Amino acid sequence: MLEISHLGKIYPNGAHALEDFTLQVGEGEVVAIIGGSGCGKSTLLRLVAGLEPPTRGEIRLGGRRLVEPDERVNIVFQEPRLFPWLSVADNIAFGLRHLDKGERSARVEAVLSRIGLSGYGGRWIRELSGGQAQRVALARGLVTRPSVLLLDEPFSALDAMTRTDLQDHLSDLWYENGSTMLLVTHDIEEAAALADRIIVMRPWPGRILEVVPVDLPRRRD
Ligand code: ADP
Ligand code: ADP
Repeated sequence: MLEISHLGKIYPNGAHALEDFTLQVGEGEVVAIIGGSGCGKSTLLRLVAGLEPPTRGEIRLGGRRLVEPDERVNIVFQEPRLFPWLSVADNIAFGLRHLDKGERSARVEAVLSRIGLSGYGGRWIRELSGGQAQRVALARGLVTRPSVLLLDEPFSALDAMTRTDLQDHLSDLWYENGSTMLLVTHDIEEAAALADRIIVMRPWPGRILEVVPVDLPRRRD
C-alpha cells in the first residue's frame, strides 16, 4: 500500500505546487492522474520518487516512510533521459548492479525481447529512434521490478502508433511485475485503457478534484 498523506510542496521560489494532497493506492493498482498544466502532477511524482522533499505531509510504502530515492520506487519521464555513454543493455542494467553478471544479462535480454528490441543491447543510445529510446526508458523502469512505478507522461512525445504499441507493452509488463503505478497523462483514453482509477487534479494549487473509478474492460483484461 502506497499512502500519500496531506502532502504539500512550496518551492524555494515561493511557487505553491501542491496542497494537502492525500491518496491511498493499493498494491498493484494503477492510478491515472490528469489535470491541466501546472497543477502539480510532476511535483507529486517527484516527491514520491524522493527527488524533492515535501514541505508538508508524508509518503509511506508498506508502512515505511519514503524520505529519499528508494530502490522500491522507479520513475519514467516524458523524455527517455538515458545515459548516452552507456549501451542500451548497460542503461537497462544500471539498476541491477547488485545481481551477478549472468542474472543481470538474462533479465536485460528478457525485457528487451518483451519491448520488441531483441538484438539492440549493444547499440548506442544515439542510434535509436525516439520511440525506441522511450521503450528502453520503460524497460529500465520495469527491469528492477519496483513496487511502485511512476510514469510522467511517458508516451506523450510519441506518434499514435508507437504510443498504442507501448501502452500494450506496459500492460504486458504490468501483468508480469504487478507494480503499483501512478500514471500522469493528458490522454483520457490512455487513462481509461490502463488505469483502475482516474484522479483529476484541480489547477491551483494541486489537490484532488474528482476520483473516477474505471470499470470499463481494460486492455489487459
Ligand atoms: P504539472 O506537472 O501539473 O504541469 P508541476 O508539478 O510541473 O505541474 O508544477 C506545479 C507548479 O509548481 C507550477 O506552478 C510550476 O511552475 C511550479 N514548479 C514546478 N517545478 C518547480 C521548480 N523546480 N521550482 C519552482 N517551481 C516549480
Ligand atoms: P511537465 O511537462 O511535466 O508539466 P514542466 O514543464 O512543468 O513539466 O517542468 C519541466 C521542468 O521544469 C521540471 O523539471 C520542473 O521542475 C521545472 N520547472 C517547472 N516550472 C518551474 C518553475 N516555475 N521554476 C523552475 N523550474 C520549473
